[in-house]
Amino acid sequence: MNVLLVYAHPESSSLNGSLKNFSVKHLEDAGHKVQVSDLYAMQWKAILDADDSTDRQPGARFDPSLDSKRAFENGTQSQDIALEQDKLRWADAVILQFPLWWFSMPAILKGWVERVYAYGFAYGVGEHSDTHWGDRYGEGMLAGKRAMLVVTTGGWESHYGPRGINGPIDDILFPIQHGILYYPGFDVLPPFMVYRTSRTDEARFSKICDELGQRLDDLWKTAPIPFRPQNAGAYAIPELTLRSDIAADQYGFDAHIARGG
Ligand SMILES: Cc1cc2nc3c(=O)[nH]c(=O)nc-3n(C[C@H](O)[C@H](O)[C@H](O)COP(=O)(O)OP(=O)(O)OC[C@H]3O[C@@H](n4cnc5c(N)ncnc54)[C@H](O)[C@@H]3O)c2cc1C
Repeated sequence: MNVLLVYAHPESSSLNGSLKNFSVKHLEDAGHKVQVSDLYAMQWKAILDADDSTDRQPGARFDPSLDSKRAFENGTQSQDIALEQDKLRWADAVILQFPLWWFSMPAILKGWVERVYAYGFAYGVGEHSDTHWGDRYGEGMLAGKRAMLVVTTGGWESHYGPRGINGPIDDILFPIQHGILYYPGFDVLPPFMVYRTSRTDEARFSKICDELGQRLDDLWKTAPIPFRPQNAGAYAIPELTLRSDIAADQYGFDAHIARGG
């Protein structure tokens, strides 16, 4: 299988760097092909702007969505964007690996998403009608592929528990797992978390690698998070709210996960 690892850490000798190296070797030893987008090493341009297409007319008003659409359709996206889209097409599974920075992904990775997820590639795909609101949330260009987050945190696991002060980790990661990965079609696996990173010594690192290795071995077996598909009847269209008979007593992020079927 083909695995794309999109990795965001500025220091190659960091814990994240070591875990990235472990994952690449583990996957390759198991016979998989691996490509790494090491965003800092690539000096990835993090900001979406008018330079993202090659055919923009001087003085023309920049429209982030419509310019993206035109460039994607006309093959005039800047080359770094097109290359990352090719890697996504190639991949059977995509891993996003990063340290949690201010309760989200580092800005360089957010910038990768903003620029690579072009209009026509990751959004604005498919028919819009009274029964089908675009190919998204379970459908889309990246359907049939799997995705998983590998995230490290300074905070303890309890800080991210159901009553932890930081809020539950599933809630913090919801905009990434549901909004960025499920939206264009990925099946999203539960994240691999490393909490309280300051408490890492050789013994713990070895244990973390064992657990991560198991998750990589199970990449094609692990059940995805059962997010509810948008166009399969659970949501009223065009309101895009859950039907009143579905998870009637649930609100917020959790209502969009079909726990127990
Ligand atoms: C801007 C910013 C915002 C942040 N926001 C948050 C936040 O919102 N929530 C939160 O919980 N945390 C936050 N943090 C903390 C951050 O998530 C952690 O610092 C990060 O996850 C640690 O990962 P690292 O790869 O940088 O670890 P490193 O600092 O490189 O290493 C962590 C520990 O692992 C050890 N180690 C590294 N490699 C190995 C190895 N190969 N073998 C054995 N031991 C090793 C190191 O000695 C060190 O003790 C933030 C940090 C920053 C800088």
